[in-house]
Amino acid sequence: MPTKKFLLEEKDIPRQWYNLAADLPTPMHPPLCPDGSPLKPEMLERVFPGNIIEQEVSRSRWIDIPEEILEILTLWRPAPLRRALRLEKYLKTPARIYYKDESVSPAGSHKPNTAVAQAWYNKKFGIKRLTTETGAGQWGSALAFACNLIGLKCRVYMVRISFDQKPMRKTMMQTWGAECLASPSPHTHAGRAILKEMPHTPGSLGIAISEAVEDALSDKSGKSRYTLGSVLNHVLLHQTIIGLEAKKQLKIAREKNPDVVIGCVGGGSNFAGIAFPFICDKIHGEKIEIIPVEPTACPSLTKGPFTYDFGDVAGLTPLLPMYTLGHRFVPEPIHAGGLRYHGMAPLVSHAAAQGLIKPQAYDQLKCYESALLWARTEGTIPAPETSHAIACAIDEAKKAKQEGKQKVILFCYSGHGLMDLSGYDKFLSGKLTKYALPKNKLRQSLKAIKNLPRIK
Ligand SMILES: *Cc1c(COP(=O)(O)O)cnc(C)c1O
Repeated sequence: MPTKKFLLEEKDIPRQWYNLAADLPTPMHPPLCPDGSPLKPEMLERVFPGNIIEQEVSRSRWIDIPEEILEILTLWRPAPLRRALRLEKYLKTPARIYYKDESVSPAGSHKPNTAVAQAWYNKKFGIKRLTTETGAGQWGSALAFACNLIGLKCRVYMVRISFDQKPMRKTMMQTWGAECLASPSPHTHAGRAILKEMPHTPGSLGIAISEAVEDALSDKSGKSRYTLGSVLNHVLLHQTIIGLEAKKQLKIAREKNPDVVIGCVGGGSNFAGIAFPFICDKIHGEKIEIIPVEPTACPSLTKGPFTYDFGDVAGLTPLLPMYTLGHRFVPEPIHAGGLRYHGMAPLVSHAAAQGLIKPQAYDQLKCYESALLWARTEGTIPAPETSHAIACAIDEAKKAKQEGKQKVILFCYSGHGLMDLSGYDKFLSGKLTKYALPKNKLRQSLKAIKNLPRIK
């Protein structure tokens, strides 16, 4: 009987994170102030603690993971590497499909990997309270879980559409002791301004970020900071434990390097987690195809320009070099809430601009079809976000069959879908439609960044 699970012992958990910025063939473009002048790390100090800023700008290849963080991560890590044998058999593919199962964390996704680290560094810096935004609720619940264990207060601004579609995520956050508000909310200037302009808006991550940043900045005690669940360099860094574990586990499975590595992309963090250690191999000569998969409804990597843009709708963040649809972009309310972000992580964007990765966009109907096939072969119900990676893994396995090649496919199973069943319900009752972002909507949305600095 072929082995289905490849497990590491707790003592084999990676003890350092991998920083791709150390190995990129050309240096990253620096973040800028809104007027185009270079951003100094000190300018971030009211938003993030100093120890996190240090990681954000670090160019060291390896960064030690503090023992106390490992002590919490080992509640569920090392996460299993599994082989999708039943799916392989169904597809009659010669490919071997492996997936890193991040759904086993307490919050049900990869996000606690960075939530625990960020809460720990904030606590160490003397911070008492964290604010954040959440799309589908995965990040908010991950941070609520981490703040509870580490002893910090936590307030989460949750995108309105998800707040209504996924009320159980709010209950999870409250169970772990956090506060959860629908965004746009009447609690902030940014929220009130949007509500006045668009009272029935479904909200967006960009709006919720504006609210959470404003909230942290307006705490007069100076003991509140903001946290982000994706996009930034330090967040991607914390997720590399996924790919580093997967490398050890592929060795146990007696595989060499994978031929294809796949992850879905919203802000880019689970993709970075699984892919960056393999991008390092690729930079050093290995032949690996590395594919980030985004929704056709929010196609920053495949349709957006690579340029400077704000991370949030109000323009409170520094300007970041990224593939973007424009910071004023409000995506359609697709069910893959975690993939509804207008931009893409600068590190992932840089890797794409250098041709190190090959982005693809998938329609939500194809993703739900793949999710159903997955549930009916492998048994588990994936998050709608994760179904994008599954759809691509299935296509790659079919391609391997056509080519008659025994490829090794690795993807990140970023989370379970047990809190996302309303999306499945809509799909099963035929209420979901195909949707790709129309050209004129993109053109309209890019007007907002027309006068911002460009990448040279
Ligand atoms: C948040 C989330 C994503 C998207 O975010 P990334 O930062 O791109 O990883 C994908 N899958 C799941 C399950 C998520 O919760």
